[in-house]
Amino acid sequence: MSVFFSQKLAALKPYVPGEQPTDKNYIKLNTNESPFPPSEKVKEVINAGAIDDLRLYSDPDLNALCSAIAEYYDVDKAQVFCGNGSDEVLSFAFLAWGCNGVAFPDISYGFYPVFADLYGLQTNIVPLNEDFTLDLKDFNGKAGFIVFANPNAPTGLTVSTNEIEELVASNPDSVVLVDEAYVDFGAETALPLINKYSNILVVRTFSKSRQLAGARLGYAFGCKELIEDLNRIKFSFNPYNVNRLTALAGIEAINDNVWFKECSDKIVNTREALKTALKQRGFYVTDSKTNFVFASHPLLPKDALYKGLKQNGILIRHFNNPKIVNFNRITIGTDTETERLIEAIDRILEEVRK
Ligand code: PMP
Repeated sequence: MSVFFSQKLAALKPYVPGEQPTDKNYIKLNTNESPFPPSEKVKEVINAGAIDDLRLYSDPDLNALCSAIAEYYDVDKAQVFCGNGSDEVLSFAFLAWGCNGVAFPDISYGFYPVFADLYGLQTNIVPLNEDFTLDLKDFNGKAGFIVFANPNAPTGLTVSTNEIEELVASNPDSVVLVDEAYVDFGAETALPLINKYSNILVVRTFSKSRQLAGARLGYAFGCKELIEDLNRIKFSFNPYNVNRLTALAGIEAINDNVWFKECSDKIVNTREALKTALKQRGFYVTDSKTNFVFASHPLLPKDALYKGLKQNGILIRHFNNPKIVNFNRITIGTDTETERLIEAIDRILEEVRK
């Protein structure tokens, strides 16, 4: 830290991303990326002409991209906002609506407390139930900005749209942000609520179900006024927040529904097979509706599974939060990667049983 750094920010605990190692070729099941490549249409559109166009700034209004998203989801373009990853969308939202405090679950996406800290926002932490379920009623009366992920990460558990509607309707003075990063893997979307309520923002990403984690593209749906708020922040921060290649890739990815469905279906099938295989081996596994499973094993406490798998060339995510210290988040890979994972787990279990 330099002597020039803001005293106020010196105490920040930045978000710690999952490992992106370069030392060897791991089976990477640690950061919820897609095991499949982007659509062929994405590959075709990133051509020499598109690269030549990099000399020009991107469209600050992202008209073509927002129109493609609006058309696909059957909403008005004025109800769509795009950001440099949904992390940026989330960050703008915290800045826009967090001034009266922000409430989020104690176990959820690790960036929420970091954004709250970064912007000096008061936080109201809502504990999950013992079984990791979230009771949205616990947000009632926690004035300010309400944020949760559905499905939640890293638990993978969902809440119903009815429960979300009840929360949105009974807290008209709060913006409710539903982070739907993983919604395409089996949860119910709250998207229809944006036409009925002016206090809900639904945030999505191209990183998981559209195979574009490295392109950095997130988006949000909300009423026109909420989208205007986000645009005010964007145009005060970085008007060209989404680069040209990413905008092109996003349009092609949203238009290739066949590839999207094929990849999502494969991930859901592999996830269910992995859940079964883990349960057969004595794991406790939550009913995840995402592209990862959340699991613990009585013989593999703390980071034992993480360490064992790393030795076997497989990366998963382990958290140090005491409430989930015995749990692991394992991203769904290809079927071959999953077979390798199970084989490695069998070897590790055999070793600890000796
Ligand atoms: N929300 C949740 C719940 C996540 O797990 C992630 C991925 N780490 C994000 C948002 C951010 O995704 P991205 O910035 O890649 O769109």
